[in-house]
Amino acid sequence: MNYYSLNHKAPNSTFKNAVIKGLAPDKGLYFPESITPLPKTFFDNIDNLSYSEIAFEAIKQFVSPEIPEAILKTIVEETLSFDFPVVKLNDSISTLELFHGPTMAFKDVGARFMARCLGYFNQDNDREVTVLVATSGDTGGAVANGFLGVKGVNVVILYPSGKVSDIQEMQLTTLGQNIKALEVNGTFDDCQDMVKTAFLDESLTNNMQLTSANSINVARWLPQLFYFMFAYKQLHKEHKEIVFSVPSGNFGNVCAGMMAQKLGLPISHFVASNNANNVVTRYLVSELYEPKPSVQTISNAMDVGAPSNFIRIQEIYKNNFSSLKENLSSYSFSDEETKAAMLEIFENYKYVADPHGAVGYLGCKAYLKENANAHCVFLETAHPTKFLDVVEAVIKEEQPLPEQIQSVMGREKESVVISTYDDLKSYLLQ
Ligand SMILES: *Cc1c(COP(=O)(O)O)cnc(C)c1O
Repeated sequence: MNYYSLNHKAPNSTFKNAVIKGLAPDKGLYFPESITPLPKTFFDNIDNLSYSEIAFEAIKQFVSPEIPEAILKTIVEETLSFDFPVVKLNDSISTLELFHGPTMAFKDVGARFMARCLGYFNQDNDREVTVLVATSGDTGGAVANGFLGVKGVNVVILYPSGKVSDIQEMQLTTLGQNIKALEVNGTFDDCQDMVKTAFLDESLTNNMQLTSANSINVARWLPQLFYFMFAYKQLHKEHKEIVFSVPSGNFGNVCAGMMAQKLGLPISHFVASNNANNVVTRYLVSELYEPKPSVQTISNAMDVGAPSNFIRIQEIYKNNFSSLKENLSSYSFSDEETKAAMLEIFENYKYVADPHGAVGYLGCKAYLKENANAHCVFLETAHPTKFLDVVEAVIKEEQPLPEQIQSVMGREKESVVISTYDDLKSYLLQ
C-alpha cells in the first residue's frame, strides 16, 4: 500500500518508508491511498475467526507487499498475545478492556506492532534508527516496552516533568538498554512540538534516521483498528446498534475505529469523550477548529490541546462537516464529573474504572440520553492502578497491583532533564 501526505506537497510513500520516516517531508501525516472494505462474509463469519486471523485480514492491505504474509502472521500473533475482554455494566453500557498488555494501556497494541515492523525493515540495515516520541503518559511506557532490545533501534522518550503518574514514569524511565527518557520542563504539547521540530531539522535528519512512534506513525496508528473488531465479535449477537465511546486525546484511537468502520465493520456511531481539553467537542458545535494550550487533568493521557490525528478524521469524511457530525458526537467532562463517574461505576456495578475510562463512560451516558436503543461500549484505555492516587482517593478502597505494575515498582529512575529544543538537539547529536 502507498500512502500520501495530508499536506499534499510530498511524494507518495511506501508503507516501509512511511514507518521509517514517521512524518512526510512536508510535515503532513501519511494516509493510505485506498481503503478496500472487507467482504461482508468476513463480518458474518467473525465468530469463527481468532483475534489474530481478524487482525491479519484487517491490516493486510495496508502493509503488503512490503511485509510478506508469513511475517505479518507472526507479527500479529506476537502483538496480540493478551486478551481484549468486553465487560457488561448494564443492558446499554459495556466496557472494552484494553489494558491486559505488558504496560496495561491500549498503546501496547500499536507499539508492539510498530516495533516488529520496524525491526523487520531494519534487519539488514546497518544504519540505526532513532525513535523519537513524546508522551502524555502511556505512549512512553508502551513504546519503551515494545522496542526494548530491538536491534538497530534507539528510543528517546520525551515526557512532561511532573505531569505523568508515578507508575507511568517508572514504566518509561527504568528499562535501560536502548531506551532513554528525557524529562521536559513543560507540557505534553511542548514535548510534541519539540519532536515535530526535530523531524524538520535538517542538521539532525542529515545526521541520523529519526522516526516517530506516536500515533502519527501509520504502524502505530492502524493496528488500533483491531480491537473495535474484537469488541464487535463479542457483542454482535446480542446488540444490533453498537456505538463506541473513545476517551480521546490525540484522536488516533477513535480515528482507527473509523478506519475499522471504513473496512465494513457494522457499527453505527462514535463518541469522542474529552476532558477539559475539548477542541473537538467545541468544533462539532461551532464548526470552528480552535486549538488551545492543553490544561492538566486527572485523565492526563488526554491532555492534548491540538490533537494530531484530527486531520486524518477530516480526510476520512472528505472535510464534510455534516457527514462527520452524523457519525461522531463529542462531549467534554470536568475532573469533578469524572471522579463522580468513577464512584458511580464502582457503587452501581462494582467495577473499578480509571479516569480515562470514566470519561468514556460519561460519553456513553450522554449519548444514550438521545439514543436510547444503542449499546454503547466505552474503551477502558488503561488499567486503574496506573492512576492509583486518584482511583484510591475516589473509591476509598485499596487496589491490588497487577504483576505488570509490581514489576516496575522500586526500580531506579534514569532520566535527563531538558527545557528547550536546543537541549534536545544537543542530546541527540552527542
Ligand atoms: C493515549 C491515551 C488516550 C488517548 O488516545 P488518543 O489515541 O491519543 O486519542 C486515552 N486514554 C489513555 C489511557 C491513553 O493512554
